[in-house]
This record gives sequence, C-alpha cells and structure tokens, in this order.
Amino acid sequence: MTTFVDADLAAIAGPVLAPSDPGYAEEVSGFNVAIRASPALVVGATSTDDVAAAVRFAARTGHRVAVQATGHGLNDALDGTVLVSTRRMAGVAVDPAARTARVQAGAIWRQVIDAAAPHGLAPLNGSASGVGVVGYTTGGGIGPMARRFGFAADHVQRFTIVTADGVARPVDEGTEPDLFWAVRGGKANLGIVTEMEFGLVPVARFYGGGVFFPADAAAAVLHAWRTWAPTLPDDASTSVALLQMPPDPALPEPLRGRYVVHLRFCHLGTPHEGERLLAPMRAVAPALMEVVAEMPYAAIDAVHMDPTTPMPVRDRGIALGSLPAEAVDALLAQAGPDAGSPLTMVELRLLGGTIAREPLSPNAVSGRGAAFAGYALGVLAGPAAAAIPAAADGIASALSPWAAGEGLLNFLGPADAEHVARQWGSHTRDRLLRIARRHDPAGLFATNVPLPS
Ligand SMILES: Cc1cc2nc3c(=O)[nH]c(=O)nc-3n(C[C@H](O)[C@H](O)[C@H](O)COP(=O)(O)OP(=O)(O)OC[C@H]3O[C@@H](n4cnc5c(N)ncnc54)[C@H](O)[C@@H]3O)c2cc1C
Repeated sequence: MTTFVDADLAAIAGPVLAPSDPGYAEEVSGFNVAIRASPALVVGATSTDDVAAAVRFAARTGHRVAVQATGHGLNDALDGTVLVSTRRMAGVAVDPAARTARVQAGAIWRQVIDAAAPHGLAPLNGSASGVGVVGYTTGGGIGPMARRFGFAADHVQRFTIVTADGVARPVDEGTEPDLFWAVRGGKANLGIVTEMEFGLVPVARFYGGGVFFPADAAAAVLHAWRTWAPTLPDDASTSVALLQMPPDPALPEPLRGRYVVHLRFCHLGTPHEGERLLAPMRAVAPALMEVVAEMPYAAIDAVHMDPTTPMPVRDRGIALGSLPAEAVDALLAQAGPDAGSPLTMVELRLLGGTIAREPLSPNAVSGRGAAFAGYALGVLAGPAAAAIPAAADGIASALSPWAAGEGLLNFLGPADAEHVARQWGSHTRDRLLRIARRHDPAGLFATNVPLPS
C-alpha cells in the first residue's frame, strides 16, 4: 500500500488508497457499475475527524473532494478527486422516546428500518432499503410514505457537516440556519455530512404491494391510473412502471422475460380501506400476479421490488406538473409494449399530499410543487446498451410539455451544472447559490448534482 508523508493523511485512521493499491477498485465501486470512477485518492473514512483531514488535504493540494456511501448515485464527477468513502461509518442509533434516529454518513435505510421497527417506528426511506440515508435525504427523499409525511429532508433535526475549510460543524436550525436550510436539498454541494439526526414516524404496518398486469393492458392501466391516483387520500401512495423483465430463472414464471405493467400501492390506514381504494385499479384488467397484503413496515421493499444487486444503469427523470391523457399517450409511444424501447423501467409516481406542503422548518428541497415524477432507466448491457441514454432522455423529452417548474434532484440522472440549476425556482436557487459560495468559495466539492460556479 502507498505510504503518505502528509500530516493530514497520516492522521486518518481508515485506509488511504491510491489507484495502484489493492482494494482501491473495490472501495470506489458502487451500485451503478456502469461508472468506473477514477479518483486520485480514496479515503476510507472511519470518523468525522478522518473526513475533516481528507477535506483539508484535498483543499491544500488542489484536489476536489467527492463523497460516496453506496454508489446508488455514482457518477463520473469523482474522477481526479479525493473521494471520501463513508461505508465504514455505518452507525445507527434509535431513540424510541424522542422518536428519532441518529446515523453516521454510511448508514443505509435497511439498518434504520430494522432498528426502528421493534419500537413501532419507521423512517421515511425510499423504494429500495439499500440506498444510503444521507445521500437520499440531502436530495429530498421521496418514498412510499411521502404523501403522508413529506420529504425525508423535512424531518431532519441536525447534521454534523465538514465544510470546505475542513472544519466539522454541528448544524441545526438554531446554530447555522443558512447551512441547515441549504444542506436539506443541496446534497454534497455544501460539505460532507458525517452524522444526521431525524424524526421517525409511528408506523408499524402498511397495506400494499404490487399488482402485475400483462403488456396488452398497458394503455388501459396507465390511463386508469392517471385519473385514479390523484383521487387517493394522503395516506395512500402509488406508482406505476412499465417493466421489461429479464429471462431470469429466479423470477416468478408469470413475469420472467416479459413486458409487464407494475402497479405499486402503499396505504397506511386499515387493510379494509386500502383494499377499497385499490379496487378500481384491480378491475382494469386481470392481473398476471399480485403481491398485496397487510405487511410489517420492515417488508416495505415489497412495494417497489427494486433490484438489489449492483448493475450498470443510465437513468433520466422529469418532474411533471400534470398528467393529461396526451402525456400518457406520449409515454406509451416511446415505451409502450409495441414501441420496441430498450429501457428496463419507465415509471410514473404520484406526488402531492404532504410533499407539496412547506415544512415547519423550510429547506432547499426542489420539486415540492410537482404533481407526478416520471423516471426512465435502462441496463447498459447487451446489444441495446448503446441505445439506452437516448431512449432515457427521450422519455423526458416526450413528457417535457407537462414538466413542472422545478425538478427532483434524486431522480435527475446525469446532469451538468446548468441542468441542475434549473431544478429550483429562482428564489430558492439564488439563496442556495449564495450559501454554497459563502461556504465553498473555491468549489471544492464535486457532486453528482453540481451547482453553477
Ligand atoms: C435502486 C434505486 C432506488 C432509489 N429510490 C429512490 C426513492 O425511492 N426516492 C428517492 O428520493 N431517491 C431514490 N433513489 C435515488 C437516491 O436517493 C440517490 O441516488 C441518492 O443520491 C443515493 O445516495 P447514496 O448515498 O446511496 O449513493 P452515493 O452514490 O454513495 O451518493 C450519491 C450522492 O449523494 C450525496 N451524498 C452521499 N453521501 C453524502 C454525505 N455524507 N454528505 C453529503 N452528500 C452525500 C452526494 O451528492 C453523492 O454524490 C434511488 C436510487 C436507486 C439506484
């Protein structure tokens, strides 16, 4: 392993790996294996002090700094940086009396779900519990309970964050109101969060899961969904996805190798009420397969059934202000069963409810006013791989006549600073840029959602 004489690097307790060191490639790799990032150094941080030392070293030696937990949002902005890998900082502590969780930077949602469940509590995780808590939350964070409780970022109470000066700061509403506002929505553009404390909600069970329809029902299901979904109460959330399932023998036979329509549903009221709400969609067409039941909250991954193994993907998202019949037709023309699309998943999520309401402590989260989220993803493998980026971008273009004024950072896909800046309304963007420039005047932090310099 490379030996470093620098005082900051020497003080780091975790491994500091150069590209020629064993373990470097493994440390850098993440969920999205399409990206082979090549940082100048990777620091396997074990503490806030390690993160602060890495930031000071980078600033002093003219490197930019990036941060990675799970690699679910992996991107090529990591090239040439000092990459802080937080996977060793995976502590999670739940305080059942205060209904809060305190996590370190590398924690994933599964850990919080499992630690909260014995107390009848749950976090506002997203569709896949393998996603990192901090990366998700600093981008807003919309999950199966968001319509009832809002963005995950709306529930954060305090952070510890290492800013560009290499100082670890406790940040909450009282101590650093500007930073506290900006980190909730500004992702890693303000610094590296090393610890985060947030509220949990009293949810032990839900009624929901997924209904799979055959390809020939795609138009009927999507058109029914677009009028049914907005009638749901805030206790219910839903999304619908056009999926091209691989011919994987591990998949249930009715889905294997098929184009299917996956209706997702999650309801926090009684199972009886959930069943009543879902009934109109069940009546649209006979299902190929259904996994809908009352479940413990720990089974929440059953709603989306996202893949859990690392894969090479390219994605693109667009937040929508409305979803008229013409928008559904435009989506079907691009990715319907007869379109020959190479995309693996094209999804529509219902937003609204508490997502749309300003939280008690306002923050920089974008996309609050959007009514739906559109999202396309392709697996970069096989002969169709080359066609994936244009096809994913094509979904966003096709839906762009109905775009909301703002976007959702977590669903953006690869984006340059100009594209990222368009995701906020001008007032929020200007304030965020002012705070980012004050705390990081040299643009030290490299992120998957870069702000304009
Ligand atoms: C399968 C899958 C399902 C998803 N489902 C949802 C969903 O339901 N709802 C939703 O809102 N999003 C969802 N996302 C998007 C996800 O929230 C973002 O990609 C998020 O950035 C992932 O964070 P990570 O730490 O796991 O990934 P990483 O690739 O490790 O990090 C991605 C980015 O997060 C930021 N970040 C990470 N750690 C820190 C830190 N310590 N301090 C500051 N910034 C940090 C940085 O900007 C970094 O570039 C999903 C993504 C995937 C791949």
